[in-house]
Amino acid sequence: MSLPKYEAYAIRYAQMPRQRADNFIGGDPHDGPMPMDFFVWLLRAPGHIVLIDTGFNAATAQARNRQMLHCPIEALSALGVAAEDIDDVILTHLHYDHAGNLDKLPRARFHLQDAEMDYATGRCMCFAPMRHAYSVDDVTLLVRRVYQDRVTFHDGDQTLAPGIELMRIGGHTKGLQSVRVHTQRGWVVLASDASHYYENMDSKRPFPIVYNVADMLTGHVRLYAEADSPDHVVPGHDPLVLQRYPAFKGSADIAVLHEAPVPV
Ligand SMILES: [Zn+2]
Ligand SMILES: [Zn+2]
Repeated sequence: MSLPKYEAYAIRYAQMPRQRADNFIGGDPHDGPMPMDFFVWLLRAPGHIVLIDTGFNAATAQARNRQMLHCPIEALSALGVAAEDIDDVILTHLHYDHAGNLDKLPRARFHLQDAEMDYATGRCMCFAPMRHAYSVDDVTLLVRRVYQDRVTFHDGDQTLAPGIELMRIGGHTKGLQSVRVHTQRGWVVLASDASHYYENMDSKRPFPIVYNVADMLTGHVRLYAEADSPDHVVPGHDPLVLQRYPAFKGSADIAVLHEAPVPV
């Protein structure tokens, strides 16, 4: 049986300025800007539409002083996708920039790791540095979705559907999962925050928001191992993604990940 070939898109919905020293444990010897982009990702094959992460809303953007470009759910209309078309939502983890807007998805089933719900609702959230990147409103809404029978929990690696595999990585958060998807160019790995930037995984220097450094470093190795080539790994927050991949119909904010990146 041949696997479906999914289309895969990265959709940028927000930005923020950062410095290089902000993005590596131990800082960085070079001064200079290293801005951050915020994405959601869409996978599509005949009969199946999957959204990976759900971004944040305008109120959160204002509260956290992020520059919002679009509502990430409304931005899907550029791809011809409406909120009610989405069958499954993979939540890579529950940080505020990945798990908002759950109120805008009327039909989708949400998928996350047991360990992530445990982390986001358990004793680690007694510590301000650990809960800083979570929004209690988002987490609470997801708990409500559990009670509405709209959440599926996973414990470790799992095939979501033929051609879509969940990879439990941990590291950045206790239950972070990356996604491996089969496309026309082979298996692409969407790292999400397993590696914020190409440079985190390439230089094996973790991003500073981290639950377990060893798991994050092991995760960097695994991202490459599970992809068909180094050019098949897509980091979670890197502006270079939009430079390296073809733009969807000229959009400045949508990269086509099922096509090969431009060599650098
Ligand atoms: Zn995160
Ligand atoms: Zn993030």
